Amino acid sequence: MELGGCCYQFRIALLGDSTVGKTSLLRRYVSGAPGAAEATVGVEFYSRALQPPAGPRVKLQLWDTAGHERFRCITRSFYRNVVGVMLVFDVTNRASFEHIRDWHQEVVSTQGPDKVIFLLVGHKCDLQSARCVSTQEAEELAMSLGMAFMETSVKSKCNVDQAFDTITSAIQQAL
Ligand code: GDP
Ligand code: MG
Repeated sequence: MELGGCCYQFRIALLGDSTVGKTSLLRRYVSGAPGAAEATVGVEFYSRALQPPAGPRVKLQLWDTAGHERFRCITRSFYRNVVGVMLVFDVTNRASFEHIRDWHQEVVSTQGPDKVIFLLVGHKCDLQSARCVSTQEAEELAMSLGMAFMETSVKSKCNVDQAFDTITSAIQQAL
């Protein structure tokens, strides 16, 4: 299907605890603007077209939990047709890392194990002195869950585009 010059549209969701930086990451990626965001915003999804190094243009439809994650009330319709999920934690927030398995399980139990491509994202990697999750243990978790791991920051503009490129390539390879 042709979608504004794009051949594919991929629906990708960002999941993780409140305040880990999901909305900031999305806004930075979509607009290039500084990342500060309201804790609760009404926007549900953003989109951006992308030209991968190989293959046709892709349109990403990027879904945000819009503040609902704190209430654990994300509905099944949120996950409908999602092909990629970024599981985001904050490298300075231990609990957000420990909840990653729960978020993963929630997607798998809603979607089945093979339908979704995951990427583990350790966000706010600019805050090295406050860090309480090591790169190594995050890599180990990612490996045990069968996904790649990347560290990102909107403050230091680290790996933002690369994270979305990585999950997009993985989705294309799985097509
Ligand atoms: P969400 O609840 O997961 O959507 O998180 P937000 O995007 O609303 O961000 C929560 C807080 O983390 C805000 O105060 C952001 O400014 C801050 N934040 C987001 N990304 C970064 C980052 O890369 N580095 C730092 N130091 N703070 C960030
Ligand atoms: Mg948010």
